[in-house]
Amino acid sequence: MAMSLLLPIFPLQSLARSYRWCPVRTGSKPVCLVVTRAQTSGGDREEENVVIVGAGIGGLATAVSLHRLGIRSVVLEQAESLRTGGTSLTLFKNGWRVLDAISVGPQLRTQFLEIEGMVVKKEDGRELRSFRFKDEDQSQEVRAVERRVLLETLASQLPPQTIRFSSKLKTIQSNANGDTLLELEDGSQLLAKIVIGCDGIRSKVASWMGFSEPKYVGHCAFRGLGFYPNGQPFQKKVNYIYGRGLRAGYVPVSATKVYWFICFNSPSLGPKITDPAILKKQAKELVSTWPEELRNLIDLTPDETISRTPLVDRWLWPGIAPPASKGRVVLVGDAWHPMTPNLGQGACCALEDSVVLANKLASELNKGTESVEGAMESYGNERWSRAFPLTVRANLVGALLQWENSLVCSVRDNIIIPKLVRLGPMLEHTNFECEPLYDSKT
Ligand SMILES: Cc1cc2nc3c(=O)[nH]c(=O)nc-3n(C[C@H](O)[C@H](O)[C@H](O)COP(=O)(O)OP(=O)(O)OC[C@H]3O[C@@H](n4cnc5c(N)ncnc54)[C@H](O)[C@@H]3O)c2cc1C
Repeated sequence: MAMSLLLPIFPLQSLARSYRWCPVRTGSKPVCLVVTRAQTSGGDREEENVVIVGAGIGGLATAVSLHRLGIRSVVLEQAESLRTGGTSLTLFKNGWRVLDAISVGPQLRTQFLEIEGMVVKKEDGRELRSFRFKDEDQSQEVRAVERRVLLETLASQLPPQTIRFSSKLKTIQSNANGDTLLELEDGSQLLAKIVIGCDGIRSKVASWMGFSEPKYVGHCAFRGLGFYPNGQPFQKKVNYIYGRGLRAGYVPVSATKVYWFICFNSPSLGPKITDPAILKKQAKELVSTWPEELRNLIDLTPDETISRTPLVDRWLWPGIAPPASKGRVVLVGDAWHPMTPNLGQGACCALEDSVVLANKLASELNKGTESVEGAMESYGNERWSRAFPLTVRANLVGALLQWENSLVCSVRDNIIIPKLVRLGPMLEHTNFECEPLYDSKT
């Protein structure tokens, strides 16, 4: 019974030379017989069934989802370790639904504050409007989660050796029988039955599939994670400050940490700057007349958490953008649908992708080889109708908020925000019913 998950798609005869079968357990329950990798007579070329490229949020969540469904995968990550620096991500209820479905929600909730509402202010600190999330939607859940902790938590759910660090994908090639040959920077090769490209905005997999480069949208973001060793002073609210062509936000993450960002217009990407002292100085200069608490927060930001990122996206125009899959290669998260962070949905959407794809793949893997492509196509169709509108909406919201025109900003600050904006419709995109992981063997 358990073997049926893999047997139809990976016939024993073709694997006999290079694989051996061994029983594996996922958590406490017995799962299935999977193949372990072994070297072929071809030397450095290995064979794997499911290869995920990229150990970011999308890659790890996909690996965990598949693992929960009894499907073993290998995750190739270019870096030497999980990303340890970086700031945090605001996850809304759709992100939490997925984290619950893959059973890491409770563990993460205990570490991050639940944010109760948001306050919108002018650059002089005057409050324009405040909202409480639960007033509009009892089921809303908002927390800013440290990226490092999210990645470590997801990785801790995977069997040892699942993630292979220092494994940078260099080239991809598909074989006549539908397998994919992956060549890594170190010259080693992997032959994969299924490839899931989760390699982020500069995805090698996506460019092999014919996707265009993501496009710069005209603004950049400074980000940081302020640290208050004696406890941070903020209420559990997201604070937004809107200026002209410039906006900032900050939100408490935990008892001692506060995430902040500053978004500013810039006609070009500008030089890549990594020196934290320069980044801090530039960020503070942008908001030199803005509320002091924001500038203090920047001062209290450890060097390793400050960064400056040009914001990009890619619109998946129907009939123009390639489909999400090609043969048995499929994309997840930013590799497929990079979007600007104006709705706080990039990571949430990558999480959604991971569970939908894992469910579809697992259910089809039980049926036979041909249906894997079908599962990927079905995933692509279902997720396109979610990701494309979100990408467009995030872009338009960003364009609106980055307006420099004083008349437009005045209408925004005096009419739109105080009188017209409603939080419920603004957060409608966070409605996502996450299907549980269907373990077809249980
Ligand atoms: C300023 C800013 C703020 C944001 N805020 C939010 C927010 O509040 N909420 C939210 O939901 N989202 C937010 N996002 C979006 C979020 O960060 C991304 O959507 C999310 O990280 C996508 O995850 P991913 O796994 O698809 O890609 P990534 O997180 O980029 O992971 C890709 C992984 O692939 C690896 N990789 C790349 N190339 C290769 C290769 N050739 N070989 C092997 N490995 C490779 C990388 O090293 C990396 O580990 C924000 C983004 C930005 C820029």
